[in-house]
Amino acid sequence: CGVFGVWAPNRDVSRITYFALRALQHRGQDSAGIAVGNGKTVLVRKDMGLVTEVFKDEDLQAMQGKVAIGHCRYGTAGAKGWESSQPHLSAINDVIIALAHNGTLVNFDELRRELIDAGVPFRSSTDSEVAARLIGYFTHATSHLRSGIRKTMQMIEGGYAMVLIRENALYAFRDPHGIRPLVLGKLDEGEWVVASETCALDIVGATFVREVRPGEIIRISDDGLISEEGLPPRQTAKCIFEDVYFSRPDSVQDGKSFYKVRHDMGAQLAREAPADVDLVISVPDSGTPAAEGFAAELGLPYGTGLVKNRYVARTFIAPTQSLREMGVRLKLTPLADVVAGKRILMVDDSIVRGTTSKQIVRMMRDAGATEVHMRSASPEVVWPCFYGIDTADQNELISANKSVEEIREYIGADSLAFLSVKGLMSCVPKTGYCRACFTGEYPVAISEKYWGDHFL
Ligand code: 5GP
Ligand code: SF4
Ligand code: MG
Repeated sequence: CGVFGVWAPNRDVSRITYFALRALQHRGQDSAGIAVGNGKTVLVRKDMGLVTEVFKDEDLQAMQGKVAIGHCRYGTAGAKGWESSQPHLSAINDVIIALAHNGTLVNFDELRRELIDAGVPFRSSTDSEVAARLIGYFTHATSHLRSGIRKTMQMIEGGYAMVLIRENALYAFRDPHGIRPLVLGKLDEGEWVVASETCALDIVGATFVREVRPGEIIRISDDGLISEEGLPPRQTAKCIFEDVYFSRPDSVQDGKSFYKVRHDMGAQLAREAPADVDLVISVPDSGTPAAEGFAAELGLPYGTGLVKNRYVARTFIAPTQSLREMGVRLKLTPLADVVAGKRILMVDDSIVRGTTSKQIVRMMRDAGATEVHMRSASPEVVWPCFYGIDTADQNELISANKSVEEIREYIGADSLAFLSVKGLMSCVPKTGYCRACFTGEYPVAISEKYWGDHFL
């Protein structure tokens, strides 16, 4: 998911949030929502669909205020209906709060049951509502929102980046491992924004200040910005799939754009698994930076061999395998003029189920390519993610079930290689990453129940 928050009493905060959400749209297309605090109360508008489908000019006009948050959802926990859309509104006595969340809480089932036993009502089955209800519950006991957030952070486990407003304040907080991303930016003196990625700062004209620290709680109000420790930071474990696939290429982390990281990954992959081919092509758009890096490293020609239809929804999350296959054909079409009679090498950012690779290798051969080689700019995805990226159950992950040679045969390629984990780590600017989907070393323990559901 994508989250955003803005404190700017003299600006059109709902419109700022709308533009930021459009920059974060790639992080979730299921639903979109904005909540605004106007000094007296909190208003929310949210619905299923893209940001541009949910908000018209009149909607934004009707949501004037001094503080706002926004969310675009990519469902990982809970059903996909309207009730799961965010921000979540809840009342604590006569104070209304709205919460938006990116991530997944691994222990939300247990917490939800305990709250229900304590008489707390629920509208959805999401982990995000559990967080909102917990904050309400603990704030109620202490009548202090920040201590309610801190108590909640002591209870919840997993990867999370959350933004929250009440009528006259903005809060932002991040899990103690820093698994999910959250950055702080500045619009003008006394005007602050927080966002999942720096691309949202760029679009609203904010400058990057720093990351929200793992375990930190930030509060912004008429009293200015206050930072406090919600939980002591643990071993930093930023999600490396943000580098591989999820973040927009123009976003920057630790001083390096994800475009540059991916370009370096492609170059590293070329050193690890070169090939003698006539043309390197990418699987657009997510494979493009790595494909460019691959071709540049070997001095090979690079071209466009696949055209992407920008108006097709994502194939990755289609409910059934046959729909996913149909989705790939709608989304990617081969350029026979470019690939016919050539030895082609295709670079994608990742191979997860193998659906995309199998289809496009066939397309290349049908279009007349004489050889088709496949490269994945990420290592083999062997383990499911529990912290907010929907990489399927283990039985659907092709690398958990087949060797590289078996996958090569399955997708019908002349050769196949994946970037090594070590090679991947040499391309990111710092250490301190979660890479559990490649290595199985989970920074936050996964309960027995999950093991049963999601593992082979
Ligand atoms: P496959 O077809 O092998 O299941 O998935 C690989 C393709 O899905 C790649 O082109 C990659 O860009 C994309 N992909 C990888 N991870 C994700 C994800 O978490 N969500 C979505 N929507 N697509 C993904
Ligand atoms: Fe990211 Fe993978 Fe860790 Fe999930 S398991 S948080 S996708 S690195
Ligand atoms: Mg892709």
